[in-house]
Amino acid sequence: MQVNSEYLHPDKECLSREEIEALQVKRLQETLRHCMNSPFYKKKFEEMGIKPEDIKSVADVRKLPFTTKQDLRDTYPFGLASVPLEKCVRLHSSSGTTGNPTVILHTQKDLDEWANAVARCLWMVGLRPNDVFQNSSGYGMFTGGLGFQYGAERLGMLTVPAAAGNTLRQIKFITDFGTTAIHAVPSYVTRIKEVMDQQGIDPRKDTKLRILAIGAEPHSEEQRKRIENMLGVKAYNSFGMSEMCGPGVAFECKEQNGLHFWEDYYIVEIVDPETLEPVPDGEIGELVLTTINREAMPLIRYRTRDLTRVLGRTCPCGRNHIRLDRMKGRSDDMMVLRGVNIFPIQIEKILLQFKELSTNYLITLTTDNDNDNMTVEVELASQPADSVALAKEITRRLKDEILLTPHVKLLPLGTLPQSEGKAVRVKDLRTVYQ
Ligand code: ADP
Ligand code: ZN
Repeated sequence: MQVNSEYLHPDKECLSREEIEALQVKRLQETLRHCMNSPFYKKKFEEMGIKPEDIKSVADVRKLPFTTKQDLRDTYPFGLASVPLEKCVRLHSSSGTTGNPTVILHTQKDLDEWANAVARCLWMVGLRPNDVFQNSSGYGMFTGGLGFQYGAERLGMLTVPAAAGNTLRQIKFITDFGTTAIHAVPSYVTRIKEVMDQQGIDPRKDTKLRILAIGAEPHSEEQRKRIENMLGVKAYNSFGMSEMCGPGVAFECKEQNGLHFWEDYYIVEIVDPETLEPVPDGEIGELVLTTINREAMPLIRYRTRDLTRVLGRTCPCGRNHIRLDRMKGRSDDMMVLRGVNIFPIQIEKILLQFKELSTNYLITLTTDNDNDNMTVEVELASQPADSVALAKEITRRLKDEILLTPHVKLLPLGTLPQSEGKAVRVKDLRTVYQ
């Protein structure tokens, strides 16, 4: 079967570091010229005395102002557009996990480039036109729906736009249509498997599943391995956000050694969230992204609030696009308990090392006698021989990781609320003393 590989930009996929940087400088200058059409950036650049010609190297991106989620909210809905509205053909809005929604506009060219980026990611992990791709993520404003839809079609696969939810129907599609690949949030994949078990369906024998794209929410390496073993598939981490289009920003290659961020689309920086200065490779900081091939709404130095680190700039797969570690979480996800900083993913990492536990858990924070307390509720995958001893051991391991002693509660499978979109992992019921 033939695929128009032009869409995948094979010439861009394996550029050398020098070629990537030369392209980035050229595209950044063009982006800055284009941004002058947006009153927001025009004012900022003029105030700071910035001219596109001042950009001579990729490092010069640091001369530019940051853009924040608050800027998107302040200019809601169309104030950051760099083209007249009549040139735009679609808008998407973030799912609003952490506040008011924000709007991103797209021209037809933007949508085409976005589909190309997603197709490139899917091709990279081995998907081909003869695959059957089921997209089990929400459609509508959530970019995981249409983003993957257009990318998978561009690659030429038969697509099943199943959307999220109705798990029995999802499984029927998987078996009836011979689905070979699924995109879903990791927490929903485990739900699909639970229902398969109830139905007596063995994914290895009764389905053709071979590749999964999992993303849109933080998850641990342990969670990925669970999913792979559970379904007998390869699961690849997919990273995106509506401000940067949606999925297609970064994806793992077959090496599964970090997320390749496409540097012909974005300039990637990792900065210290306090000082906003760059951090050395290997150190955790906030991911900052600049779009360099977007038409309707370029964003300069967008502070994503996602925390990660640079793993490398080369890869055995032959691609030199920068590799970043899986997201540790967003700075907003960080829980501060009795002065200790904790990310939900640290807890997940420990829980999933216990094979008796399922992947569904909930962290509840409360104030008792003026003290912060944490309760970790987790569903059992199988009945342990001694649940008291198991709870004790989990508590001990969690304490080693987070330096606090949580209350651990083991629950029967299916007891905790199950979300069809991004999983809600933390309930903060603490009293705030001001
Ligand atoms: P919202 O910001 O309302 O959740 P988005 O759908 O745009 O809306 O979500 C983007 C965010 O989702 C990212 O900034 C990041 O925090 C999270 N995210 C997306 N993909 C991943 C991934 N593979 N791993 C961890 N977090 C992810
Ligand atoms: Zn690679």
